[in-house]
Amino acid sequence: MKLYSTNLNAPEASFKEALINGIAPDRGLYMPKSLPRFSKEEIGAFKHLTYPEIAYAVLSRILEGEVDENSLKAIAHEVYNYDVPLEKIDEKTYIMRLDRGPTASFKDFAARMMARLMQYYLDQDNSSLTILTATSGDTGSAVAHAFYGFDNINVVVLFPVAEVSERQRKQMTTLNDNIRAISIDGKFDDCQAMVKQAFADEELKPLNLSSANSINIGRLIPQSLYYIYAYAKLRSFPEEIIFSIPSGNFGNMMGCVLAKTMGIPVKKIIASVNENDEVPEFIRTGKYQKIVPSKNCLSNAMNVGHPSNLARLIAIYGGEIDERGNIKKEPDMEKLRNDIYSGSVTDIETKETIREIYGNYGLLIEPHGAVGIKGLFDYRDKTGDDAFAVTLETADPAKFPEHVRKETGIEPQLPQSLKEIESREENMDHLSAEYASFKEYLKKHFM
Ligand SMILES: *Cc1c(COP(=O)(O)O)cnc(C)c1O
Repeated sequence: MKLYSTNLNAPEASFKEALINGIAPDRGLYMPKSLPRFSKEEIGAFKHLTYPEIAYAVLSRILEGEVDENSLKAIAHEVYNYDVPLEKIDEKTYIMRLDRGPTASFKDFAARMMARLMQYYLDQDNSSLTILTATSGDTGSAVAHAFYGFDNINVVVLFPVAEVSERQRKQMTTLNDNIRAISIDGKFDDCQAMVKQAFADEELKPLNLSSANSINIGRLIPQSLYYIYAYAKLRSFPEEIIFSIPSGNFGNMMGCVLAKTMGIPVKKIIASVNENDEVPEFIRTGKYQKIVPSKNCLSNAMNVGHPSNLARLIAIYGGEIDERGNIKKEPDMEKLRNDIYSGSVTDIETKETIREIYGNYGLLIEPHGAVGIKGLFDYRDKTGDDAFAVTLETADPAKFPEHVRKETGIEPQLPQSLKEIESREENMDHLSAEYASFKEYLKKHFM
């Protein structure tokens, strides 16, 4: 497997290089040059496999020759040891619940696989790493848990002090050991900018920094697996499927793009966003205008004003965009619009949807999942396209109990993994959004 950089100014990389380095030397994002294509017979045969079996079958083709097959099989079974429920709303609509992992968010799917693959390579080379990750909510906890207890990897998580819920924070601050959590006086975009600057900082080279954000290709590839799983379980060729994906940094959505490239007949990818509507506007007008600062919405893990994966989306359609958001080369907008629909959902609509889905179907969802469902309903209203659709629930409703309680009168049950952290002691550091102080911090603790 060979990977290229979206800035088109870096040498091709192997999967291992892309995984360990995170970002390309030209500061672009890595993308696979090609992916395997699964036949309808192969996808049909997945119907009878479990999630980890499908994960292994797909990954062993994508990573052919990159990872030892037996190790990969063992990793797939160890990291995917939880349910992936497909809940029916009606004949044409299902919710895929990606919230049953140890941190109760969909990010467990990617973080756990990426962590184990990194460890696999580091063990081989007898080397070590420091992972820097910026989070607006769930990335930090999923990444921290995925790497927790590894002895060759340290993790530093930066989060915007005012934008994460108490529970999200506790998931990052109660682990300790090889995990450090820093609350930043700023927004998610500030955290992300600080992490990016640290990667580019020559003086920090000895730390062997790497990223676990959705910019890492090791995060992206595992996010293609559940789309293949959902299709195999719910449909058969040549039936088409629509996926509606609550989106912030657009890593989850890019996973769906990869699944489509690998042969899943995806009729439309719906990228549903909250009031941070820079991507729907871009798709509508062809002009890109990032939102600074990003808006605070109920679906706080999607409060992103300049999604990092946009460069990948644009690259897939033959265009180019730099880190600041300037389009260098126009992508094929017609093809992009044909494949992808993106709509914005307000906070008021988000609350209404939580209420409606409970009232009409007895199902509890939280704000991110509600944005996904409402985005699908809006798409159907607008286009009349009522093809079979799966919408993604990306977090457990118990992570957002206030909203769920207020709209439905129901107290969502805490999963066991979240119950345990309630009583643990929190440990965190606090920094301003200035890069200089973050750099000092890294030097002090890791140099
Ligand atoms: C991260 C996150 C999202 C957004 O995913 P992206 O890949 O950044 O688009 C949606 N919902 C939840 C609960 C998340 O944690």
